[in-house]
Amino acid sequence: MDKFGHIDTWVFDLDNTLYDSTTGVFNRIGDRMTLYVAEHLKLPLPEASALRKHYWEKYGTTLYGLMHEHKVDPDKFLAHAHDIDISDIPRCDIIREHLAHLPGRKIIFTNSSRDFATRMIKHLGIDHHFEGMFTIEDAGYLPKPRPDPYHAIASKFRFDPKKAAMFDDMEVNLKTAAEVGMTTVWIHGDNNNPDDHALPHLHHKTEKLADWLKATTKPPQHPVKGK
Ligand SMILES: [Mg+2]
Repeated sequence: MDKFGHIDTWVFDLDNTLYDSTTGVFNRIGDRMTLYVAEHLKLPLPEASALRKHYWEKYGTTLYGLMHEHKVDPDKFLAHAHDIDISDIPRCDIIREHLAHLPGRKIIFTNSSRDFATRMIKHLGIDHHFEGMFTIEDAGYLPKPRPDPYHAIASKFRFDPKKAAMFDDMEVNLKTAAEVGMTTVWIHGDNNNPDDHALPHLHHKTEKLADWLKATTKPPQHPVKGK
């Protein structure tokens, strides 16, 4: 915990950070987005899928590309994209328990919608840990890694980025975090070789958030009885 002794605010990405990338939730949302693009722009599914990926790479989110290039209504798109069943997503007991041992304020910072983020953290049983969330609506639909929402979240929740740590599975999101002064923890998951990513803005790395929490936080000490 020494390396994080100066931290008083913990900022968490949602998707593939607070729940595991292996759950496939992101793919379900992606499929719903592709369907929306296909219906809205009257494209065959493969073309809609390719266009969605293109916008994701070019603009940071499919939504921003659709808004910018096709004047799509963001709230309608978000409601359609996140209309997925999450009832089978497993809860992580380690995250549920160990978040409580992390001293300081906890805030969610996500490119997902408020409705989806609220539904997901309730399902995961971790909603009570968070003081609040900053969602894509709060960001005026300008996604991470653009700098605007990083300044906006710090201003809204009145924290000093130099005393904040941010967890995210996308290293590019942590580049902006580091640029505004935050300490970063990269959730690299199964599919990355973290040693191939010796980037200066990735201050700390862990495969899963649960691993980091387990290694870094300690439960409150209780007196040992009977010895
Ligand atoms: Mg993520």
